[in-house]
Amino acid sequence: MTSSDDPGSGALAGLRPRLPSPLREVVDERFARRGVRLLLKRDDLIHPELVGNKWRKLAPNLAAAAGRTVLTFGGAYSNHLRATAAAGRLLGLPTVGVVRGEELAGRPLNPSLARCAADGMRLHFVERSAYRRKSDPGILAAVLRAADAVDAYVVPEGGSNPAAVRGCRALGTELVGHADVAAVACGTGGTLAGLAAGAGAGMRVLGIPVLRGGFLADGIRDLQTGAFGGPRGEWSLDDRFHFGGYARTTPELTAFAEDFEHRHGVPVERVYVAKLLYALVALAEENAFPRGSTVAAVITGRPFPG
Ligand SMILES: *Cc1c(COP(=O)(O)O)cnc(C)c1O
Repeated sequence: MTSSDDPGSGALAGLRPRLPSPLREVVDERFARRGVRLLLKRDDLIHPELVGNKWRKLAPNLAAAAGRTVLTFGGAYSNHLRATAAAGRLLGLPTVGVVRGEELAGRPLNPSLARCAADGMRLHFVERSAYRRKSDPGILAAVLRAADAVDAYVVPEGGSNPAAVRGCRALGTELVGHADVAAVACGTGGTLAGLAAGAGAGMRVLGIPVLRGGFLADGIRDLQTGAFGGPRGEWSLDDRFHFGGYARTTPELTAFAEDFEHRHGVPVERVYVAKLLYALVALAEENAFPRGSTVAAVITGRPFPG
């Protein structure tokens, strides 16, 4: 690990994470009757504002930014933009959020973007086709010029670069010896890429993509190659639980999430965590987990506004 990857380094002391995050068993008869133990890995408790996997992914990038302006990308409800803005306020770093959708520029900010702005993030709205092509170096350079941030430290959309993936390795090592299966919801898959590397051989890592499309596995292999030089760990994806795509939901999923909150007293974030927990209950019903096994569900976030 290089020192710039070390989230414990002095510059980040103001972030005060709760690490390792708590790991708690919950008794849920839908698992118990199959002889399966369910653990909740409470990454939602790592930090009140840099919630969950966002802390693990951002911390090494904030260290690498070394005081420069941090610029990143997201949609109008992005958890990643809110976390970056909060980090900027806590560390005294200037932040710029490049937001998808030029048409949002003249309108009142939604609660998520309003929180970003209140934390001091400068918002720069970009037309959708340019936003889509932002990894093209020419387009990126034009966006940085237009945002008046040519010297910024750039973190990609969703925050998944090699430093972020290495930052998520600790999530896996924290579970070694406690779980046979670790399960996590996937957006970019950066969290799973790091988790699987830290978990190593002997733990199965299961990813539940919340986006439609079924192209995520290649992206995760690329992220692992970028972060570690090659594939790591024993992971797989189950593409059946996206409920129509990103931020889509159904009455059944909403009812499931409310019921889970009542049973276990844990707030269930709806875009990612609800789909993960739903998937695990369905898989238990299919006898996908051997009797006697322990499954750890990573609670990667918390509802906003909470
Ligand atoms: C961002 C986010 C994820 C997705 O993480 P990836 O590393 O992009 O797969 C999962 N859960 C929550 C709550 C998130 O905010």
